[in-house]
Amino acid sequence: MTFDIRAFWLIGALGACGFGLLVLIVKKAYPSYLGRVLSLWGAANVALGGSYAIRLGGPWEGQFVYHVLSNTLVATCLSLEYWAIRDLKRQPSSTGWIVGPPLLMFTCCTWLTSFHRNITIELLVFDIINMSMMVLIARSLLRKEDNRRPFADVIAATVYALLAMGTCGVIVDFFRKGQFGTEYDFNAPRSIFNGISAVVIEGIIFPLFLLMLSERLNRDLVVQAMRDPLTGLYNRRAFEEIAFREMSGASRSGLGLSVLMIDIDHFKQINDQHGHVAGDVALRAAATTLRSSMRDEDFLCRWGGDEFCALLPRARLEHATVVAERILEAFRDFNFHLEKGPIEIALSIGITTYNSSAKDLTELVDRADAALYEAKNTGRNRWAIAPDKN
Ligand code: GH3
Ligand code: MG
Repeated sequence: MTFDIRAFWLIGALGACGFGLLVLIVKKAYPSYLGRVLSLWGAANVALGGSYAIRLGGPWEGQFVYHVLSNTLVATCLSLEYWAIRDLKRQPSSTGWIVGPPLLMFTCCTWLTSFHRNITIELLVFDIINMSMMVLIARSLLRKEDNRRPFADVIAATVYALLAMGTCGVIVDFFRKGQFGTEYDFNAPRSIFNGISAVVIEGIIFPLFLLMLSERLNRDLVVQAMRDPLTGLYNRRAFEEIAFREMSGASRSGLGLSVLMIDIDHFKQINDQHGHVAGDVALRAAATTLRSSMRDEDFLCRWGGDEFCALLPRARLEHATVVAERILEAFRDFNFHLEKGPIEIALSIGITTYNSSAKDLTELVDRADAALYEAKNTGRNRWAIAPDKN
């Protein structure tokens, strides 16, 4: 039975172009969906399909189109995939890494095909550039997001790493055998490996890409459902869930749990003098300062308007007053600047601690609220403790 590598190129060309066009059609139908990710991924697949189509139709040896264009399209595909994955994972990407590999591939392949012809070395360059891109993609995929690695990303990283290792094996084999002749046997193991990996890339990476997309969307939905869009802090709904869990933990451990209800003093004046948009900027700055005045394990939420609520696990009343004082200090020391000039932000804080007498979160929050009004009524820019009901 004779083995015809072109069967792989045909499957690769049809599969890659089909997937690529499908993704581009979806992007056209939902233009604002996931930024540039779909356009980049669709274009990457079309580039890959184009490269296989050239291999399928081109002569086995010789021409510029076959060697240079086809190889450059493969490097373009990997660069676009790298770009799409970095965008999907919200990692910054530099233009050098995106334009560099296809440009390098084009230059080297043109030189080794048309000026100083050596097809075996040209294929070596092809393998080295592709292997480097696969390693970069795998590395990006393995970067943690919010302290976790999504499952689909780990599988995709493994596939890219395996392909990179396979390519590395082909390179080592090439050096071991020392076949540096100017022409190349296209039935050699390297060609067969490239053909098989073409089908593997489409067969495995494409569904994995869909899985990565759905994981990204799920994560975004969870974040949207739990976060306040203006400040990025937890919203009230998420806070209530967390508080419920922490309250039952605190009653079991007896280690204490405190709540701070925090409200900006005279915030209306900031809005009136600087405008609502500047008021939003001030709210964001206040949220950042509040967050940095607390421990990592404390939970901070935007309760609504200019009001924030903090939950301090394993914190008794003495500790909560220290935190409240630290927050007030941080705001006294901080210089807030809006477009129209500097502003001062001061806060009032109501403190309460969880004890078995608080039946539920509503009661705990009511007590913190009462303490907050006490702080407001006794001069603002200070903290007050809720009177104990016991
Ligand atoms: P007090 O010292 O008694 O807290 O007075 P205050 O001026 O801060 O008044 P209060 O807390 O009762 O009202 C908060 C104001 O915050 C009312 C509203 O105009 C403003 N505000 C609420 N949400 C937003 C928002 O998302 N952006 C901006 N810019 N302002 C908001
Ligand atoms: Mg206020």
